[in-house]
Amino acid sequence: MEQTDRWIRQVVIVGGGTAGWMTAAALSQVLENNVSLTLVESDAIATVGVGEATIPPIRTFHELAGVNEADFIRDCHATFKLGIEFRNWSAINSRYFHPFGVYGTKKDLGYFFQYWLRLAELGKVADFETFSLCTLAARRDAFAPPSTTPNHPLEHLYSAYHFDASLYARHLKGLSTHRGVSHKLGDVVDAVKNPETGFLEALVLKSGERVAGDLFIDCSGTRGALIDKVMGSAFEDWSKWLPMNRAIAVPCERKLPLSPYTVSTAHAFGWQWRIPLQHRVGNGIVYSTDFASDDQAAQRLTETLEGPALASPNRLRFTTGRRRSPWNKNVVAVGLSSGFLEPLESTSIHLIQSSIQRLIKYFPDKTVSKIVMDAYNREAEAEFENVRDFLILHYNATQRDDSPLWNYTRTMPIPDSLANRVALFAERGQLDLAAEELFQATSWLSVLLGQGIRPRGYMPTMAFQDDNLLAQGYERMKQHLRNVADRLPYHADYLRANGLTNEAVASLAV
Ligand SMILES: Cc1cc2nc3c(=O)[nH]c(=O)nc-3n(C[C@H](O)[C@H](O)[C@H](O)COP(=O)(O)OP(=O)(O)OC[C@H]3O[C@@H](n4cnc5c(N)ncnc54)[C@H](O)[C@@H]3O)c2cc1C
Repeated sequence: MEQTDRWIRQVVIVGGGTAGWMTAAALSQVLENNVSLTLVESDAIATVGVGEATIPPIRTFHELAGVNEADFIRDCHATFKLGIEFRNWSAINSRYFHPFGVYGTKKDLGYFFQYWLRLAELGKVADFETFSLCTLAARRDAFAPPSTTPNHPLEHLYSAYHFDASLYARHLKGLSTHRGVSHKLGDVVDAVKNPETGFLEALVLKSGERVAGDLFIDCSGTRGALIDKVMGSAFEDWSKWLPMNRAIAVPCERKLPLSPYTVSTAHAFGWQWRIPLQHRVGNGIVYSTDFASDDQAAQRLTETLEGPALASPNRLRFTTGRRRSPWNKNVVAVGLSSGFLEPLESTSIHLIQSSIQRLIKYFPDKTVSKIVMDAYNREAEAEFENVRDFLILHYNATQRDDSPLWNYTRTMPIPDSLANRVALFAERGQLDLAAEELFQATSWLSVLLGQGIRPRGYMPTMAFQDDNLLAQGYERMKQHLRNVADRLPYHADYLRANGLTNEAVASLAV
């Protein structure tokens, strides 16, 4: 092989959903004109089309992919998100907030929480949630952009977005094709493999056309048109821990305020999301056919909409789990083809993002080293398992015993990785988190406490402090955060003041 032949020159992406166009937008920005990019998309197979809530790292993706925030907010009817409110999860009528950002104003959350535990035992400190700026702002339906200036009052106001997933794919398609990504409509019905290496050489479309490539990115959704059908990468099923397998999504008119957060309301047989966008509210019910019928779920969703439905229900099926080798020879699965974790913590679009970032980090040459491929697959496995454990926590750590679903999830055996973490926290409020895990202390503390696990103790060194001085410091911090939160503009006013179209501005009123 000649030296000049070593590099990947042709990348083919299969699928034109969120994953396909996110991949195209990022690779076209990073690889520029050095590699030719082609996206093949079926015009007969629909995209999932839901996927409206995100988490803060999406801002990094937008920098990587060259997405301008103002254009994106306008084109995708986006709103801002400061976290998720969980209703009825630990018990019926309970409610807690999982915010972005940090508690307090320091980053060493372990100790912040440890001191708080000590003061709480002495009855000298306010509720833990009053130390989160995102929670305080969300409770007022207020929003301002986070500041990157150190020690700025808004330094700890982290945010993400809610947006219309179909408009997002369209926006990214515009960016990608403008940068030279070639777009083909056609169903992939066959593939040509090298008989010696097993590497994929070309896709065969229904029309008979062949699309050759050096590297293939499978963004074909749960079908796994390449990673499953052609490469045979096995799927690991996690339904025993996360039994939800159906969803029904319906947008409706907004009648409630434009809250800067997602709401997740648990039901006897599943849960329901509320995601406010500029022009509508996204709603969906997630359930398991082991615990409810499709009709029961549809009826519950319809009964609980806040305004008239704006479209007919979109029914979706899924199985929770992951692809064992999302990278197999010269095929890399990105998006739903690489696995699915239910949308409870808005992680799927993030998992697409991190797959793309990992692919860029380990971008191969034509030989596709097994060592590089294995490193990618190990990181993907760890990431999926960390998110899986965090989701299981919501179902397992509950006092609910009012239905077969909660009786099952409350008593099911959980992975050791999660059981050990919960045990350490329950004993003395400590968290054993690795730096590369997606969900860090703010998230675990919010959900562990919110789901009703109160540590029995704390680190002994916490008792060797001046409690009165500590209590004064916490009180000052509480007042400071409250003052900042009270001065923030309402979310709807912030969006109005930031260049939205007239139509969008009109729709913000309630
Ligand atoms: C109920 C539900 C709620 C969700 N909510 C959220 C959320 O709030 N936040 C979040 O981050 N994520 C969420 N997700 C996940 C999110 O929707 C997906 O991660 C995202 O849409 C990515 O999908 P995809 O692009 O991988 O697949 P799809 O959207 O399924 O796209 C697949 C593409 O592949 C094409 N294709 C398939 N087979 C072939 C073939 N043989 N030849 C050519 N083309 C082919 C199709 O035409 C389509 O263009 C949710 C998912 C579900 C099910």
